Amino acid sequence: MQECLFCRIVRGEIPAAKVYEDDEVLAFKDIHPQRPVHVLVIPKHHITSLAHASEADVPVLGRMLAVAHRIAADQGSPNGFRSIINTGPVGGQEVMHVHMHIVGGQEPVGPMLRRI
Ligand code: 5GP
Ligand code: ZN
Repeated sequence: MQECLFCRIVRGEIPAAKVYEDDEVLAFKDIHPQRPVHVLVIPKHHITSLAHASEADVPVLGRMLAVAHRIAADQGSPNGFRSIINTGPVGGQEVMHVHMHIVGGQEPVGPMLRRI
């Protein structure tokens, strides 16, 4: 997994604006924020996507959810946030290392999906 962008961020080979870290999870600001608060929460070990997750990944996936509110509140979204995990080509996943977007701010983030 040498070339995985987010694994490289975990290893410190690529800089990122880290906002939270524990033994299993890392969170850092999205490089192209789509709302005033836009953070990515990732497992420190490589999981390609939710389509590749296994039983062994259950604890870290739970941890990602469990720390989300604390991160959102710390970053300026104390009254809620939206968490998004894109999976595969249908989900629009661009970086193939599981990541949960936390988007928010002072204002509602808007409709869940754009109408098609
Ligand atoms: P996806 O479409 O895969 O769910 O989202 C990938 C996200 O990663 C995008 O929002 C994009 O802005 C973000 N991203 C891509 N490359 C980098 C990077 O090098 N650093 C950071 N902090 N975010 C990145
Ligand atoms: Zn990776």
